[in-house]
Amino acid sequence: MYRFKRIAVKIGSNVLTHKDGTLDTERMSQLVNQMAELHKAGVEIVLISSGAVASGRSILKLEKEPDPVSARQIFSSIGQARLINLYYELFSKHGIFCGQVLTTKEALSTRNHYLNQKNCITQLLQHKVVPILNENDTISLTELMFTDNDELSGMVATMMNVEALIILSNIDGIYTGNPSDPDAKVIGEVEAGVNIEKYILSSKSSFGRGGMLTKTNIARKVAAEGIEVIIANGKRDNILTSLLSEGSDTLCTRFLPTGRELSSVKKWIAHSESFSKGTITIDDNARKALLSENATSLLFIGITAVGGEFCKGDIITIKDSQGKDIAIGKAQYDSDKMSQSIGKKGLRPAVRCDYLWIINN
Ligand code: GLU
Repeated sequence: MYRFKRIAVKIGSNVLTHKDGTLDTERMSQLVNQMAELHKAGVEIVLISSGAVASGRSILKLEKEPDPVSARQIFSSIGQARLINLYYELFSKHGIFCGQVLTTKEALSTRNHYLNQKNCITQLLQHKVVPILNENDTISLTELMFTDNDELSGMVATMMNVEALIILSNIDGIYTGNPSDPDAKVIGEVEAGVNIEKYILSSKSSFGRGGMLTKTNIARKVAAEGIEVIIANGKRDNILTSLLSEGSDTLCTRFLPTGRELSSVKKWIAHSESFSKGTITIDDNARKALLSENATSLLFIGITAVGGEFCKGDIITIKDSQGKDIAIGKAQYDSDKMSQSIGKKGLRPAVRCDYLWIINN
């Protein structure tokens, strides 16, 4: 009856809150009703929900706000409690349990932590619990935060092997111009690999940290990993159930997935660019080999420089001779050993092909 068996749904702060930041219980209730319907029809849902900071700020009125970091910690702490409480109540009305999963970018930066998080969400789904994720803004360090929950949702969608990621914000999709311009139209479909950045306004939504540009970048990346990504308006009634219905013509922007099958390790590496601890620069022959259709490991013969200090197993960025980032990989040696081995033949690869992800520019 519905198009997918497992989906990730990301709901932005602007969908869940009124203009003053208080939670829009009516909207939340409608969205939960739809998720309950999907859940009962056998669709597994991983929910990524923002709204904690906005909600917290509307609850605790401070005469003078402390510095931005402390304010975020205070508001997210209160707001998250309010948010998850309301979700818990709303899902309970349908006899469904939901569970809170708070995470940080750092907690996904090593393979062990990543697999541990994956196990938690898998277990919840297996026990018919709806996992509700958010970044743990009470402890996340500013310089190590997700850009926004769109980035988190991309990582989670990939981690959980969902068939579709639905990003709900307060506009209908990506427009061909300024959404307030009557001539601007919603782009219905984006073919794999097509760059529509020129259409994107760099403005952000009022409450969330993200904007359309991050959404588009995440959408392209996730679609390139074989997952359909839909950007739609969460303020529209029945948006989720209609998007998932067969033959749906609901207004939205769909990023069509490529048919690429990726291993779990590659998926993790694909989302690990920001954890990179060092760089390797390669020559033009090595670049050609890496970008060819054939799976290729990176050999020392093609390396011209090693930058930064890293250990075996760390994530590193591979740059071409022009300094452009072309791939992300897991180092097979530490940086000292790599530097000593530049240009040498006969050694095992510096980065093995199954731990190498080519950046989709
Ligand atoms: N984690 C933030 C919150 O719950 C939202 C981050 C974002 O705007 O994407 O308020």
